Amino acid sequence: MTESTGHTDPLLVCAPLRFEARAVRRGLRDSARAAGSGRRAARRGAPEVLRTGYGAAKAAARAAELETGTFATMAIMGTGAGLAPELNPGDLVVATEVVTVRGGQPDPATALRTTSAPLLLGELRRAGLTAHAGRIGTVDHLVRGDERERLAQAGLTAADLESAPLAAAAQGRPLAVIRAVSDTPGRPLLHPGLVSGGLAALRSLRAAGPVLDRWAAACGPRQVLLAGPRSFCAGVERAIEIVERVLEQQGSPVYVRKQIVHNTHVVHDLEQRGAIFVDELDEVPDGAPVVFSAHGVSPAVRDDATRRGLSVVDATCPLVAKVHKEARRFAEDGYLVALIGHNGHEEVEGTLGEAPGSTVLVETPEDVLSLRPHDEGKVAYLMQTTLAADEAEGVASALLDRFPAARGPGSDDICYATTNRQQAVRVVAAQSDLVLVAGSANSSNSRRLVETAERAGTPAHLIDGPEDIQLGWLDGVSTIGLTAGASAPPAVVSDIIDALGGLGPVEVAERVTTTESIRFSLPKEVRH
Ligand code: SF4
Repeated sequence: MTESTGHTDPLLVCAPLRFEARAVRRGLRDSARAAGSGRRAARRGAPEVLRTGYGAAKAAARAAELETGTFATMAIMGTGAGLAPELNPGDLVVATEVVTVRGGQPDPATALRTTSAPLLLGELRRAGLTAHAGRIGTVDHLVRGDERERLAQAGLTAADLESAPLAAAAQGRPLAVIRAVSDTPGRPLLHPGLVSGGLAALRSLRAAGPVLDRWAAACGPRQVLLAGPRSFCAGVERAIEIVERVLEQQGSPVYVRKQIVHNTHVVHDLEQRGAIFVDELDEVPDGAPVVFSAHGVSPAVRDDATRRGLSVVDATCPLVAKVHKEARRFAEDGYLVALIGHNGHEEVEGTLGEAPGSTVLVETPEDVLSLRPHDEGKVAYLMQTTLAADEAEGVASALLDRFPAARGPGSDDICYATTNRQQAVRVVAAQSDLVLVAGSANSSNSRRLVETAERAGTPAHLIDGPEDIQLGWLDGVSTIGLTAGASAPPAVVSDIIDALGGLGPVEVAERVTTTESIRFSLPKEVRH
C-alpha cells in the first residue's frame, strides 16, 4: 500500500487526491488487520493505492501511463458531487457506468459499464454503509447551482472530475468505481456544511476499504453452469398473464389476493403496472376485480368473494387445483387425508381448507405418529406441489410403514416443474463449487432447490438478485452452478451472469436434463 508507479499489484486503486488516497489506504489496512496476519493479502499480493491527481487532464495522462500496467483489477475511489436528491453527504455511489459529460450531456461514446456494481452495492450495504448504484459522470469543472439538477435529469447520480478518463486504463480488466458524496443538492459547495460533508465522505471511503478488498479477492475467470430447466413454469406464466390481461381489460387498479407468485421482482413489476396486492378480501373494495394467486384459495375464500359480489379471476395453477380436487374426493369417501407440506404456506392453507375436518398437515415422519384415523384402513396422503421429492418421500414412507393400506395421489402431486428443476440442480451441483439459486425467500420451490444442491454436497445460497451474492462466497470458486426457482424471472438469471462478468471473464454453459413444453390454458374470463 505504498505510493509508487510499479504497477504489478493485483489490485490497483486510483484515488485522485492525497487525502482520498490516504482514506483508502487506511481502509485497506483495516481490512488486512481484520483478516489476521494479512492472510488474504499475502495470497494475492497487497493492493496498491496510486494518487492520480486532480482533474480530467491528469486522469487521462495517468490512464495512458497505466496502459502497460500489470495489475489484475482496478478500482477508482474518491469523493464526488451528489446529484440525485436522495443523496446525503457520506453516502457512497457505486458506478454502474462511468461517462464523460460534454456540453452538459453524458457522451454515450465514452460510456463504460461496470457490471459488478450490484455485487459491490449489496456488500457495502451489508457492511452497514449507505450505498446507491447509478451512473457517474465526469465533468471538467466543479458542479454548481442548477447544473446539478440538469445532470440528474440526464440520468446521472453523481459527478466527479476523473473517473471516466481513468477508467479507460482498466482495458477490460474488472473495474470498480466508488465515489463518496461530499456535497449534495441540499448541501452544495460553499455551504457551511461542506467540511463536515467532506469528512463524512472520507470516513465512508475508509469504511469501504474492506469491501473493496473482498471484491478484488472475488475477481477472476469463472465458469457458470446453468441448470436447465430453470425459472418460470407454466403455472407462473399463466398467473402473471392473467393479471396482465385483467389490467388490460379493466384498467388499474386490479386487486390480487396474496402475492400472485412468490417473487419480489414479479410483484414489484405488476405493482408498477397497477396491481394492488392484499392479504385478505376485506381489503378489496366492492365491485373491484380481484385475482386469486397461483397458490390457490380455500372454498371459504371463494364463498366470501361470491357473497361480496366480487369479480373474481382465478389464477390457481391447475396442478394445485388437482390436489384440491383429490383432497375433496378422499374426504367425501371417508378418508383421513394427511397433507405432506409446510405449515403456513398459502398452498397448504388452501388445500387444508377443502376438507378441514378430514385433513391433517404432516411435515415430518414424526408427525405421522400423531395421526388418529377413525379407521386405519381409510388413510390417504397428498403433497404440496413444491416439496423436495426426497424429503416428501421420507414422510410418505413413514406413513406407509404405519398405514400400509394408505392411498396416495392418482399421479404425483409434486409438480413437473418442481421435479425437473430439482433434477437439473442436482446435475449442476455435482459439477460446481457453489450453487446460486435465484428466488425470493418465501418461494418454497426455490428454497427446496437450495436444499437439493446442499444434499448433493455443494454449498448453495438463495438470492433474490445479484445484490444478495456475498463476495466471500466467491473467493476461490471457479465453477458456479446457477438456477432459478419456478417463480423467478429469467431476467434475474441474466442480471446475475452480467454481475459475475464484472469480476472477470465468464464462460457460460448449460446442463439441460429435460425440456418443458407444458402450457396451461387461461380462464375463460381473460381468454379473449
Ligand atoms: S411450481 Fe408447479 S404447481 Fe406451482 S405454479 Fe408452477 S407448475 Fe404450478
